[in-house]
Amino acid sequence: AGPYKGGIRFHLGVTREEVMALSAWMTWKTAVLGLPLGGGKGGVIVDPKTLSDRELEALSRGYIRAIAPFIGKNKDVPAPDVATDPRIMGWMLDEYEMLLGEKAPGVITGKPVVIGGSLARAYATAQGAFFVLQQAAAQLRLSKNACVAIQGFGNGGGHLARLLHQSGYRVVAIADSKSTVYRSEGLDVEAIEAHKRTTGSLLKCTGCETLSSEAVLAVPCDILVPAALENAIHEKNAKDIQAKLIVEVANGPVTPEAEKILFDRGVLVIPDILANAGGVTVSYFEQVQDAMNDFWTEAVVNEKLEAHMQEAFEAVWRAKEKYNTTVCKAAYVLALQRVAAAMAARGRN
Ligand code: NAD
Repeated sequence: AGPYKGGIRFHLGVTREEVMALSAWMTWKTAVLGLPLGGGKGGVIVDPKTLSDRELEALSRGYIRAIAPFIGKNKDVPAPDVATDPRIMGWMLDEYEMLLGEKAPGVITGKPVVIGGSLARAYATAQGAFFVLQQAAAQLRLSKNACVAIQGFGNGGGHLARLLHQSGYRVVAIADSKSTVYRSEGLDVEAIEAHKRTTGSLLKCTGCETLSSEAVLAVPCDILVPAALENAIHEKNAKDIQAKLIVEVANGPVTPEAEKILFDRGVLVIPDILANAGGVTVSYFEQVQDAMNDFWTEAVVNEKLEAHMQEAFEAVWRAKEKYNTTVCKAAYVLALQRVAAAMAARGRN
């Protein structure tokens, strides 16, 4: 119940069906978090790597001119998604405000902080996943220095690796698309970040073993975080997973067949619509700050995010107990109940 919310994707694989599916996903995600927002999404079929900066800016401005009648702070509020970023959001906001003839920062989130973006937005998905992971680990009575393996070292996985390392978890494996780095005593995450930044890959990292990219899924660990691609864990590799807890930072990384195998083996899977909802939650905070024209400190944003993620986790956990089901199904039950209640309150049964 609220304006639609979702990212704009620039990718060659964009289709109408994909945009519709991703919008629905956003509806369930915002409902699980109890945010006053619906689901939306947008996309352009393009390979942005083939565009110059000028062409990318022209595309971003042209896209906003085309969708201007359909967006607005009380209508539909876009954000970044695959291959779109704060710089692109800045161009889009500028174009929209020129069309409108007035300030309208609340029309788009994920903007640079200097033009109304929120502090802590850049790593909000990882921060939210961190809070959820802590709650799930407590349910399983995992110790504070539990071992974690992370597939994907980008915006989601990279920030999460740092947050976990800083708070005492032992990050034993990190993978990108080319390789896995592994050290059973725990990796020096900062050194690995620096290596990836300077060389562009995890290959030739010193002080750790180098394994194949897929090997990350099967290393000995307590917690596995798929933060790369959809369908990464499927019926063929689910049996090799040694973790007791899986936290889905990527969208749809565990197939339904794998989920069943993992459930039967007693592995707890925390679904994407809960685990990676920190990004949309801080996007919502950005809208709130823009509406008030009053901006919060980074600490306040993270405090509010923790409260939201904790509440959502507890609500999902209660549904799991009540219906004696998986965390994933419980999250969908909760989301559907909330959406149905909002529709019923409008007389739209
Ligand atoms: P990203 O492009 O920043 O990073 C992706 C990472 O995955 C890279 O390190 C890449 O090398 C790695 N990777 C790609 N293929 C791989 C493979 N086969 N094996 C191992 N690693 C591989 O992307 P991101 O923003 O971190 O998003 C990752 C996932 O999280 C996506 O499913 C995305 O939809 C989801 N997600 C991200 C956000 C966010 O705010 N970034 C929010 C919600 C959901």
